[in-house]
Amino acid sequence: MRTLLLLSAMLSNAAADPDWTNTWDSGLSDGELSDENGPQPTRFRRTPQALCSTQVLRDGMQLPKQAELYHIRNANEAWGTSEMIEAITTASAEMAWLMPHADPILVGDISKKNGGHLPPHRSHRSGLDADIGIFQTGASMPLSAGFPNMTPKNIDYEANWLFWSSLLETGLVERILLDQTLIDAMRVWTVESGNLSEAEALATFPPRGTPRLWTMTGVFQHVPGHRDHIHLRVLCGEALVN
Ligand SMILES: [Zn+2]
Repeated sequence: MRTLLLLSAMLSNAAADPDWTNTWDSGLSDGELSDENGPQPTRFRRTPQALCSTQVLRDGMQLPKQAELYHIRNANEAWGTSEMIEAITTASAEMAWLMPHADPILVGDISKKNGGHLPPHRSHRSGLDADIGIFQTGASMPLSAGFPNMTPKNIDYEANWLFWSSLLETGLVERILLDQTLIDAMRVWTVESGNLSEAEALATFPPRGTPRLWTMTGVFQHVPGHRDHIHLRVLCGEALVN
C-alpha cells in the first residue's frame, strides 16, 4: 500500500504538457523509485485540463444504490464518469470490509445526468467531482442536511485513512480537496500510527507551500470551505477527452 500511495502522489503525469515534466522532488533516490516491487503507476495519465471536458458529462453513470455501503443525498445529482463511479463503489466496498462497524459513507453532489452548471458549485459539471462526508470519531457519518464541520479533535483518523487510502489505491484519483488543518493533522497521524513513512506522508498530505502541488496526482490539497467534506476529483477518463 505504501509504495502505491507514494507513487500515485509522485508520478507526475509527464505526457504532452511540458509543465508537467517537472516532477516533485520527494527526496528519494532513483534507486528507491525503481524498486521492482515498488511504485506502480496511476491507472492512466492525467489529461491536460484543456483537453478534458469540464463543462458537460458524456457517457455518465448514475451511482448505483448500495445502502449498506453509502447514502446518496440526491440521486439526480449523483451522476459521474465511469471512473468516478468505480472509485466510489470500490473504495466504499473496501471500507466496509476493512471497518465493518463504520457508518455508510455520505455522498453529496457529483453531477447532473448530462452535467452542466450545478449550483452552488463552480465545478461538478462533468462528473469528475464528488463531495463526500468525513468520518467523525466513532467512525460515524451522520446523515444531516449539511456536512458537519470537522476539526483535528473530532475526526476519526483511522476510519478516514482507511477510506481515503482505498480511494487513492484505485489509481483513479487526481486529488482530494480538504482544509489544510485537517491535511496537516492527517500527515502527523499517518506517520505516528506507522501507516506511512515521513516521505510518503509528505507526498500524500503535503504541507502548505509544497512546490508544484498542482502537478502532483493522488494528493490532498487545501481549498477553503473544505472543513466539513472532501471534494474528490478523479482523473479525466476517455469519455471526457476532447
Ligand atoms: Zn465539491
